Amino acid sequence: PRNPLLNDVPRWLEEGAPHLWLPYTQMQTVPMPLPVVKTDGVRLTLADGRELIDGTSSWWTAAHGYNHPHIRQAVTAQLERMPHVMLGGLAHEPVMTLATRLAKLLPGDLNHTFFSESGSVSVEIAMKIAVQFWINSGIKGKKRFVSFRGGYHGDTLAAMSVCDPDEGMHTLFKGAIAEQLITGLPTTPEKEAALDAFLATHAHEVAAVMTEPLVQGAGGMIFHDIETLKRLRRLCDKHNVLLVLDEIFVGFGRTGSMFACEAAGIVPDIVTLSKALTGGTMALAATVARTKVFEAFLSDDPSKALMHGPTYTGNPLACAAANASLDLFEREPRLRQVAAIEAQLRRELEPARSIKGVRDVRVKGAIGVIELEAMSNLDGLKRRFVEEGVFIRPFGKIVYTTPPLVIGEEDLARLTAAMLKITAEAA
Ligand code: PLP
Repeated sequence: PRNPLLNDVPRWLEEGAPHLWLPYTQMQTVPMPLPVVKTDGVRLTLADGRELIDGTSSWWTAAHGYNHPHIRQAVTAQLERMPHVMLGGLAHEPVMTLATRLAKLLPGDLNHTFFSESGSVSVEIAMKIAVQFWINSGIKGKKRFVSFRGGYHGDTLAAMSVCDPDEGMHTLFKGAIAEQLITGLPTTPEKEAALDAFLATHAHEVAAVMTEPLVQGAGGMIFHDIETLKRLRRLCDKHNVLLVLDEIFVGFGRTGSMFACEAAGIVPDIVTLSKALTGGTMALAATVARTKVFEAFLSDDPSKALMHGPTYTGNPLACAAANASLDLFEREPRLRQVAAIEAQLRRELEPARSIKGVRDVRVKGAIGVIELEAMSNLDGLKRRFVEEGVFIRPFGKIVYTTPPLVIGEEDLARLTAAMLKITAEAA
């Protein structure tokens, strides 16, 4: 259908729209997507010249804002030298440097990185590593996963199996994917006792417990505290199962520390990273394991190796982008910027609490959420945000912003003002 927001539709959009199958989209009823021709800092420029302040960071990736010159220069220089070479029998400087830097940056002995190109795939790799860890260690039967209601880990088959099976977008696939053990997070001492009892009966068949630490993102921006993570670490140690933390959303400063596990003072056995790893410029993900996990794959027996190898694993362009992004985290005061964003979000979103139809307002780091009592017309809400000059994409009952971590006070104020105004209209 025609998009009432579009003044004129560029030819490439008119021609391409019937051929491009969009993500998470009912193709019959969706209005034509907005044509973006340029990105810069926190702004998206549309084909007709309008600028929108971006409140999403492109699915939570653009930590340093769009088109940061330092990342652009690093990728351009790498492109001149060598856009790609396979990692089968070959190696290159960007991937080695990135693996070394991640080992130094992550807590404890999370020292061994396997690279892939998407968050979902990094989750699948974490699951394969966890299952094979027990096989290689000579312990049979530990092949299942404990994951949590509200969890989201991606859209591929194994990643879907550790998502909440009853909520969210994968309910259709129930029965077509492996059945995991889904339960509640140990957010209180009582729930810790319940999970303790659950693991006491199931640990013999469980390879790993998997969760998004501190924030379950796509499952509804549900916040947890560091105590929950400490409980998980204790229970996993007690019951001899691995702990996998999926930091694809929260990693790289989003909640106020570089990694959520760091804030909790725990070291997971495996961690998955993606999204802001390259500052939102190139597709790259990492599955990082602790030394004891990695060492279970060392053997004279070739069958104990990890049999995984995506064609583009460790792509030099993506690794160059990630190295440049890490430079920026080192050089620029990102975590202080997150603290300032958090304070402003708290101040400016708080008044939404008194809007009729608002169930909750919550803020953690650079994540600001207004939760509504009921679902509303999402297409209508999205349109109104664009009319207000901002790009915000509500889902379910959640109106939220995850701005680039470099956003200035005035631009953030425009985002929060739009959130309040449009939430009030919708109520
Ligand atoms: N895990 C978490 C916590 C995520 O938020 C996402 C994406 O939103 C994924 C995994 C999947 O990553 P990707 O979309 O890159 O496959």
